Amino acid sequence: MSSTMKAVTFHEHGGPEKLIYEDVPLPHVGPDEILIRVKACALNHLDIWIRQGIPNYTISLPHISGCDLSGVIESVGTAYSGHLEPGQSVLANPGMSCGNCDECLTGKENRCAHFQILGAQRNGGYAEYVNVPALNVLPLPENLTFEQAAAFPLVSITAWHMVKTLADVQPGESVLVMGGGSGVGSMAIQMADLLGARVFSTVGTEDKKAKAKMLGADEVIDHSSENLSERVAALTHGHGVDVVIEHIGQEVWDHCMKSLSRGGRLVTCGATSGGSNQFDVRYLYSRQLTIMGSYMGTRDELLETSRLIETDKLRPVVDSIFPLKEARAAQEHMLARKFFGKIVLKVDQAG
Ligand SMILES: [Zn+2]
Repeated sequence: MSSTMKAVTFHEHGGPEKLIYEDVPLPHVGPDEILIRVKACALNHLDIWIRQGIPNYTISLPHISGCDLSGVIESVGTAYSGHLEPGQSVLANPGMSCGNCDECLTGKENRCAHFQILGAQRNGGYAEYVNVPALNVLPLPENLTFEQAAAFPLVSITAWHMVKTLADVQPGESVLVMGGGSGVGSMAIQMADLLGARVFSTVGTEDKKAKAKMLGADEVIDHSSENLSERVAALTHGHGVDVVIEHIGQEVWDHCMKSLSRGGRLVTCGATSGGSNQFDVRYLYSRQLTIMGSYMGTRDELLETSRLIETDKLRPVVDSIFPLKEARAAQEHMLARKFFGKIVLKVDQAG
């Protein structure tokens, strides 16, 4: 095995042109880590923020992005004594935590003060090889390709934490999933449908409507050309929806709030259009609304969603596949918002 590998790195923060396909040293594998030969790595919006540079994430440069990856075990660390073996197909849980604090010990590791994301605070899967803590390595569900397996972990735990754990969607409730073509949105539509809700979703272009319906959305609204809250009011006879699953931010925030029924709850996990949202506190309390912030999810939730995928109750949605060396084009495709589902990098070793 060579001492170097191909990877897509950036040496300074900035636009997509900062991404460089180059030779870098193979990662060092710690005693409790596993070295994975990467087969596929999905993009997340976090990759863009990390490349641009955001205050909440301190990273060392050069950096390798990529939170969601699948591949084959190349080797295991010297202290590893578990059941995983070289040659086995696996995927990585992107969330890493200390394992010892009260939050970790009670299964709420996404609240751990030391919580980190693979590919964010440490190098990720835009590479031929990546070292991952052994606790974060899981066998690949048998019914999935490497590309499908890379496409689900981060968005599944995020969406399940929002739809099931926080919103606790009940059969017969109505759920509005913002941005149904996004990774989180494409999962949240399926999850709300699985839990027995009437599902509304939004998309930014007309051609995505049919795809959102295929995933289980009962009504799809084009939020770029239609008045969202008025459409929701009309479709619910003025009642509004019980739950909004949100991650777009300021462009749609007002409409999301106005789409909620009395006693409705909004869960947000992102702000891709910006985070300066305003609302009138009087509107919040008089309509008895609840706003919840959500960040990633837990190991438990990854195992649950993994089982739902294995039994075909949920399916990863892959928009497109790019070779590793075209990571820049892949990120530009994401920024153009023309995708539906996950954009995945395919990693072919030695080329
Ligand atoms: Zn912890």
